[in-house]
This record gives sequence, C-alpha cells and structure tokens, in this order.
Amino acid sequence: MDSTPSFADLGVSESIIRALSQLGIETPSEIQAAAIPEALEGKDVCGKASTGSGKTFAFGIPLVQLAKRSKPLAPNSLVLVPTRELALQVRNVLFSLAQTDPSKKVWIEAFYGGVPIDRQIRALRKGVSIVVATPGRLLDLIGRGAMYMNSLERIVLDEADLMADMGFLPDVEEILSHVGNDHQTMLFSATLDGYVDVLRKRHMNNPVTHEVAQKDDRTELMSHHFLYVDSRSKNALLSKVTKGAERSLVFVRTRDSAEVVAQTLYEDGADAELLTGAIKQSARERVLRRFAQGKTQVLVATDVAARGLDISGLDLVVHYDMPDDEKAFVHRSGRTARAGKTGVVVTFVQGNQVRSLLRIQELLGLSQPILKVDLDDPALAGIAQGEQPNAQEYKVHTQDRSRSTSSSGSRWSSQKRGVSSGSSRSGGGYSSRGRQSFDGASQSKRRSSY
Ligand code: AMP
Repeated sequence: MDSTPSFADLGVSESIIRALSQLGIETPSEIQAAAIPEALEGKDVCGKASTGSGKTFAFGIPLVQLAKRSKPLAPNSLVLVPTRELALQVRNVLFSLAQTDPSKKVWIEAFYGGVPIDRQIRALRKGVSIVVATPGRLLDLIGRGAMYMNSLERIVLDEADLMADMGFLPDVEEILSHVGNDHQTMLFSATLDGYVDVLRKRHMNNPVTHEVAQKDDRTELMSHHFLYVDSRSKNALLSKVTKGAERSLVFVRTRDSAEVVAQTLYEDGADAELLTGAIKQSARERVLRRFAQGKTQVLVATDVAARGLDISGLDLVVHYDMPDDEKAFVHRSGRTARAGKTGVVVTFVQGNQVRSLLRIQELLGLSQPILKVDLDDPALAGIAQGEQPNAQEYKVHTQDRSRSTSSSGSRWSSQKRGVSSGSSRSGGGYSSRGRQSFDGASQSKRRSSY
C-alpha cells in the first residue's frame, strides 16, 4: 500500500486541493505531510526545512485554510520573512491557494520597505487577513498604529536562520513582544541551533519539531564544479560558463562589483540584468519578473537581493565570489536543482580562497577537485548541460589545508571526478569599463556592500 498521504488525508480543504492541483501539486512533500495536520490543529510547529522542501505550503496551507475575513487594522495571521523578494513570493503562493475560494474573502498582502507605506496602511484599514512582512517595515507599521498585534492568531517565522544571520533578531523580538498570549507560532529554518533555538524556546509553546533532511535526490540532481581562476580571468570565464545556460544566477559579493560584472556580460552580448539592494523595489520586481519569464539569461545578484528566490528552471548558479561560509553556499546553490529538476553549480576559487573552499567542502561533504581550466576549452560553454571541462586538477598545498577543520556533516554526497588532462591558461577579458546605470534600473548609492 502507498504510505504517502494525500492532501485530503492531511485535512486540507477541497478548495485548496483544487488550487494545488491547478499548480500541478498532487502529493504532499515530507515537511507538508508532517506539519500540516498539526498546524491545522493549532499546535506550535517547528520545521527544520530549507527552501526547496515545500515549507511554504507546509505553513501556507494551514494559514489560508484557517484564515478569516479580517477587521480593519486587525489581521489574523502574520508571516515574517527576511527579504522583500521572499515576502512577495510567499504572498503570491498564499494568494494562489486562496483564490479558489473567493467567498472566504481572505485578503493577503506583502509589506516591505522601499515602497510607499501609505498604500500599505490603506490596505490594513480595509482589512488584511494574512500579512507577509519583513521585520523593519512591520515595526514601522506597528509604530504608526496601523496594525493591531493582539488580533493575531497565527504567526510564522520563515527562514528564521536567515533573519538571525541578517541581524533581524532584535526586530523579531520586538515584534513578538507586541503579540498577545493566545496564538499559534510556526517556525521554519534551515538550521535550528544558536539564535534560532533561543527564539524557539522563548516564543514557542511545546512545539512539535520536524527535521527534514535535504533530500538526497535533490543532492543528486545538483552537480558541482570548482574552477580555479585568477582575478583577471573571472569575467572571461563567467562569459564562457553562462553562455550555454538558459538561465543563470551569478552571485557577486558587493553591489559595485555586481554592477561591473553585469555590465561586462551585457557588453559581451548576454541578456544580463542586475539585482542588488541598491535597486529600487519596483525595478527589482521587474527584473525578477523578466528573469522568471525567461526574458533575461543571466541575473547578477548580491546575496541579500537573491535570498529565498524560487525561480523554476534555473539551470546554473555561479559563485563568482566565494560565499562567506557553508550556509551561504547552500542557500545560494539551492536556487538551482529545485522541484525535481537538475542544476549545475560552478564556484570560482582564487588562490587565497582555496583554504576557505576546502573548509566549506569538508563541512558539506563535497569532494570534487578544484580544476584549472583552459579558457579556450569549448566544453566550458556546455558546463550547464553536464559537460565536463578539460582541465588539470589544482594541486592542494599543505598550507591550503592547514586551517581547514574536519567535520562529520556530509549531507551533500560526493560526485564522480570527471577530470581529464588539459592545460591551464590565464588572461582574458576583464572589463573595467565605467559603471553606468545598468538596465535603466535606478540605483541609489547607499551603503557600499550588498
Ligand atoms: P519551498 O520549499 O516552499 O520554497 O518550495 C520549493 C518548490 O517546490 C516550489 O517551487 C514549490 O512550488 C514546489 N513544491 C512545494 N510543494 C510541492 C509538492 N508537494 N509537490 C511538488 N512540488 C512542490
């Protein structure tokens, strides 16, 4: 007998099952099967689940099913998320679930900074049932008396680890201090240690905790390449590897260098666009829409701008600049190989970064060699389609390893080493041309990074 429950077995309403079916979703994922029945019963639920696990429906289905029409300024549910993009994305998912039952008059809005607050206040006055918000803007709305917190019956902390990493915990604590006692709390996070554990202990009432390992099949769907590169050759290498991909997401450390990278790709003939925190919200949304529709081939982004993005059919992620740590590596890489599709992740490694890369590889159980590729190798353009570059293996020196600590964590299984011999060559087309405003997106120069 098939042991996988159906959405109906979990207690999901007919109208939501219809909405899911319209989205092509027929069978609950592991976190959904575990969390939905308990959430529908009103229990506090804690899920160790990262993006890609289906966690948005795990909390979204109960929220929409239990939501009621709201009185002015008194929403019944709140979802706190770390970024504007995630706020919009979650709002759209919830909206798609609610639309098959318009009689319930469940209104869902996303509130985040960078857009006029007056419109958000007007919406709250009309009555919003489910508010999806970033912490800063929500505090602003509370401060203006635009939202009563003691009407909240359900609160979701989504991507709690990212909220902690991004320094939002004091804001989250303040928000939670405004909420009345009698409410249900759900928390979803890729990790449940450190500050997230503090949140859980402080604000949850006997939560049922579910840990969903990153699915092995997903790991198998993701293939990794670590390419050794010097700073002058990075842009040329990027042009090559993104050329053969239908849609790539490129992570760059700072806003300024993201702008240069996007400009260089654009001048090299790619449909490249830029997504950084310096770009106005309305322009960001346009950029994301074009990318999601497949009108843009390469999106160059900083970490903050790209957090939580769920873009289906993204075939290549490039770590143009190395991520800070293994968590950032997992989050960035996880933008590809989603929802059963394959994906390729390419990491650029400069000489002084080998040590940090080895540490990340060890922590994640990745064992692919670092390759010294030849920029003229035609296989580079096929990397997103599964071709292996002709390359020499970078010989790891003792000093590269000296501070790389070992760890047991090995969730990401290793892959075959598809290496054949070849030669390495440096040089290439780094362009240091001026940083004009790119793609018409207005870019205020605020803080220098992200
Ligand atoms: P999430 O982890 O919520 O970011 O979801 C990741 C992706 O998985 C989204 O594109 C969802 O549409 C998709 N998804 C979520 N639940 C299911 C499911 N039960 N069956 C198939 N796809 C799903």
